[in-house]
Formats: sequence, C-alpha cells, structure tokens
Amino acid sequence: MLFEGLAEKLQATFDKLKGKGKLTESDVKEAMREVKLALLEADVNFKVVKDFINKVKERAIGGEVLESLTPGQQVIKIVNEEMTLLMGSSESKVTFSSTLPTVYMMVGLQGSGKTTSCGKLANMMKKQQKKPLLIAADIYRPAAIEQLKTVGEKIDVPVFSMGNQIDPVNIAKAGIEEAKKNGNDLVIIDTAGRLHIDNVLMEELQNIKNEVKPQEVLLVVDSMTGQDAVNVAESFSNQVGIDGVILTKLDGDTRGGAALSVRAVTNKPIKFVGMGEKIEEFETFHPDRMASRILG
Ligand code: GDP
Repeated sequence: MLFEGLAEKLQATFDKLKGKGKLTESDVKEAMREVKLALLEADVNFKVVKDFINKVKERAIGGEVLESLTPGQQVIKIVNEEMTLLMGSSESKVTFSSTLPTVYMMVGLQGSGKTTSCGKLANMMKKQQKKPLLIAADIYRPAAIEQLKTVGEKIDVPVFSMGNQIDPVNIAKAGIEEAKKNGNDLVIIDTAGRLHIDNVLMEELQNIKNEVKPQEVLLVVDSMTGQDAVNVAESFSNQVGIDGVILTKLDGDTRGGAALSVRAVTNKPIKFVGMGEKIEEFETFHPDRMASRILG
C-alpha cells in the first residue's frame, strides 16, 4: 500500500466516523485532530497541515454535512477533495515547443534518481511516438555518462556525450544541434547533481538554462527524504526556476510527506512519479488518484 503508515491511521479515523451515524461538531473536531496528527507523523509540512485541517473543518462543520444521512461519508469526501486540491487538483502535463526539438532539462541532487528518470521519461515519450535524444551533461559524477548510455541502450534511445572535459553548456548546445541533424524532436538533458545544494551547481544549471532555454526544467527529488525533498524543491525553484517536479522512490516511501507538501510549498506541480527501479515503473502524476490511493 502507498504511504501505509498514513493510510492506516486515516482509515482508522474514517472507520470511527462511518460507524457513528449522526455526527456532532465535536466528533468532527476529534476526527480532524487525528487526521492532523497522522499528517504530521507522515512528515507533511506543518503549515500545509494547518491550512488543510482548517479548510476541511470549515467545510465539514456545517448543517449540510452534519444533518446529512451519511455525515461520515461526507466528511471523508471533503478530505479526499481537499487532499486532491493540495496536490494540484488535476494532472499537470509536460508541454512541447513549436520549434523542434523540445528541450527538457533534468535537475536534482545526486542520488535522487535523475539519470534513471531521464531514461524512464525518454521511454515514456518514445511510446508517445516521440523521437528522443538523451544528452549526458553530468560531467562530474563518475560513471554518470556510462549509466546514461546503458539506459539508452536498454530503451533504444540515442545518447549524446562529449566526455567529461567540456563545459556542460557546450555539451547541451552540441547535443541539440545533433538532435536537429538526426530528426530527434525531443531532447532530455541529464545535468550534474551534487550531494548538497551549492552555489556552483546552481550557477552551472542557470547557465545551461539561459543558453538552451528549455521548454521544461524538471526537478527530480527523492520522496523518501520527506521535508528535505520539499526544501530542495524550494531552493531549486527559487534559484534556478523549475516547471515541475518528478518525485522518485514513491514505492519505498511509507510516509508521504513530500508528495503531500511539495505542491503547496513551492507552487510547482508534481508531473511524474517513480514507482520502482525498473524503467517502466514511472507514471504521470494524478492528484485525484493519489488521494484515493492514500485514503483507500
Ligand atoms: P542520480 O544520481 O540522481 O542520477 O540517481 P540515479 O538515477 O543513479 O538513481 C539512484 C538510485 O536510485 C539508483 O539505485 C536507482 O535505481 C534508484 N531509483 C531511481 N528511481 C527510483 C524509484 O522510483 N524507485 C526506487 N525504488 N529506486 C529508484
């Protein structure tokens, strides 16, 4: 089950509500106290939790809900709707540029799953009849270029590289020229990460972004790092500018704090999620389906 710790606690609270028939205001308040604790334990951002609970309470403590025949169900429905809104309401699609190739620039810290996600996204796009080219612009991490080439071979997508002695900006530009020459309508640039955010990294990413003007800058963050992932997203959003988030390793995340906070804190949508190490374990993010998966 996704985010099982959180899901189990919410289920227990909802079961109590459903079992009660008529509800009083204090029943709802008690349930909201439990939901609040469950969200905080799941490492959801404190302010996000506070706002969320206030919104649900405002809607749930009214005659229309409490007087209805199934007040418990109504409260659960409100929680579901607000949780969907919290994650962005509807699917945020990636866009394509009118002049080819469309350029996606992938950014993120080392170990977040960036290189893997480059391959997963290329594979998904290939299935949507695109002709992607991967560009290896991470010249610092040993083996990053080889790793991208291996992924490329597996999915039969070409990988452009120039070794690790050339400025990533020039690699990116040369890769785009190569794509034009070979009729690739989409390029995905794998950029360098670091273990921690630093100014040199941010400057390099900013330079690449300024030069190639990508259609989408997609930030890859590791869901299992919870609020750290959200802080990373805030920094990249402020310093480089991003268009969306790819949330990886959701399969190993028992808490869910990043998934539930990142949109509200950064105002940037989650566009894709990684659900495992395999190339196919990658999905478009649907806030409504995610809320239903969490709420059961
Ligand atoms: P990078 O340093 O950001 O390029 O990270 P990598 O792409 O090398 O990924 C780091 C590790 O995370 C690898 O062992 C990947 O197999 C693993 N990984 C990436 N995405 C996922 C995911 O969605 N789920 C799981 N379970 N592992 C993942």
